[in-house]
Amino acid sequence: MGIRTGTEFRESLRDGRTVYVNGERVKDVTAYPSFQGVIDTLAGLYDLQHDPTTQSLVTYPSPKDGKPVNLSFLMADTPEEVEQRWKCEEFRAETTFGLMGRMPDFMNALVTDAAAARASFGQRNPQFGENILRYYELCRDQDLCLTHTLVDPQIDRSKGPGEQAAPDAALHFVKETDRGILVRGARMLSTLAPFSNEIWVGPFYPRKPGEEPYTLCFAVPMDTPGLKFICRESYNAGRNQFDRPLSSRFDEEDALAVFDDVEVPWERVFINGDIDASNYVLGKSPGYALLQATVRGTVKLRFMAGLACYVADAVGRSTAPHVQAQLGDLIAQVEVANGLLHAAARDVVLNRREGGSLRALAAALWVFIPQTQKQAAEVIRQVGGSGLIMTPTAQDFHNPEIAPYLEKYLQGKNLQAQARVQLFKLAWDMLGEQFGSRQLQYEWFYAGDPLFTRSRFYRSPAVAHYKAMVDCALGNTDSAKRDKS
Ligand SMILES: Cc1cc2nc3c(=O)[nH]c(=O)nc-3n(C[C@H](O)[C@H](O)[C@H](O)COP(=O)(O)OP(=O)(O)OC[C@H]3O[C@@H](n4cnc5c(N)ncnc54)[C@H](O)[C@@H]3O)c2cc1C
Repeated sequence: MGIRTGTEFRESLRDGRTVYVNGERVKDVTAYPSFQGVIDTLAGLYDLQHDPTTQSLVTYPSPKDGKPVNLSFLMADTPEEVEQRWKCEEFRAETTFGLMGRMPDFMNALVTDAAAARASFGQRNPQFGENILRYYELCRDQDLCLTHTLVDPQIDRSKGPGEQAAPDAALHFVKETDRGILVRGARMLSTLAPFSNEIWVGPFYPRKPGEEPYTLCFAVPMDTPGLKFICRESYNAGRNQFDRPLSSRFDEEDALAVFDDVEVPWERVFINGDIDASNYVLGKSPGYALLQATVRGTVKLRFMAGLACYVADAVGRSTAPHVQAQLGDLIAQVEVANGLLHAAARDVVLNRREGGSLRALAAALWVFIPQTQKQAAEVIRQVGGSGLIMTPTAQDFHNPEIAPYLEKYLQGKNLQAQARVQLFKLAWDMLGEQFGSRQLQYEWFYAGDPLFTRSRFYRSPAVAHYKAMVDCALGNTDSAKRDKS
């Protein structure tokens, strides 16, 4: 099949899947009003693959038959190939301003990572390694869109899944069947679920001995019997693009994934009870998904820096030295992110060649990008002041009784009132509304528990090297001498 068009993508969502929103079962997600904007955005991404001006940037010839397939499936080895991935992902992230963390590119990259690490999936049962490779080829050749879900329900985080008052709440293995395995329970979250063709259930947090029934990795189509998705309230309440410039187009949705006795056929099982494989497979992958996420996060920072500068211009503050310093500080952080991309791409090449570490990628994603997004939001809030709040609607500008007042009193230093209000609406959609608040929450929790991800750096081998420098300065060649025993 190869690359799909936007129309084919849209059609593929009419498959009888079970999706609930706001208390109602949505029979056809493509007809649900709140979903229209984001489906259009995703369909546009699929169409880019067919546009003669962009096709060579976003596709590559399939190793199977030479037909174009999405470039985020490229198993890149050389610096040039990794750069090809990066340029494609950058271009596609720019079309959504970095605001859709789980655009299809992310899971395309993750499935490619998994296929590259197939030996680890198959360490106990080689068939599972074979299954992951076949699944990667299926996703690539059919241009599928995936959602994924990695984390047990939050119920009581001081306990493992088996120690909960309801030990059957977290997704777990029930029994083997003639065709595969039966699973039951829930996982969260599942971003992009209503707009995906398949769900990937993967390993993430380390599992402990005794948690074998919860140690699973598999993928099934969205219309699999027993599979249900309960979505959060949509942040697109049907407002026009003037009033909600971002949430009307980029609300990618999040859902609770419920598995009510779902049968997973053997060919779709990648891990079943193998704690070693589950805990280490992600670390054995080249890091394509982390690179995609770093590229996408950096694009978002660039967008927010541009927004901060425009807001300052609009209120005539960009000439003030302290505001220039604030904006300059933010732009310098974005330059650091741009530089990190080079280090991240090098990480992927080294990791693919000789199994190196992904420290630059991890630092960018787990620490730097969320922190800088927070800083960007803070700068926009400070510079924007009340302008972020005083934003009448498109309808107000159409009312001749009040439009002249708005034109006069809401104009900016260099902008007509409508353009100024639209800019501030965009900024408020980005920061203050449900959509904007989720953007920050998303980035903080992107890579898991933020305390855990940060403390991992403290436990990294780099610490010994940094401490050794202090020893050297103190003249201690033998650091053990200093320690009390
Ligand atoms: C917008 C959004 C979209 C998401 N999309 C997806 C998705 O598509 N797929 C997916 O699989 N997951 C998704 N996630 C879930 C994400 O993987 C989790 O948020 C992340 O793994 C953290 O888990 P948690 O949210 O359950 O937080 P928890 O693990 O419950 O952590 C909550 C807080 O508890 C703190 N904490 C941890 N240990 C201790 C301790 N010992 N003492 C005190 N405090 C502690 C943590 O530092 C953290 O601040 C999404 C999350 C968000 C917010």
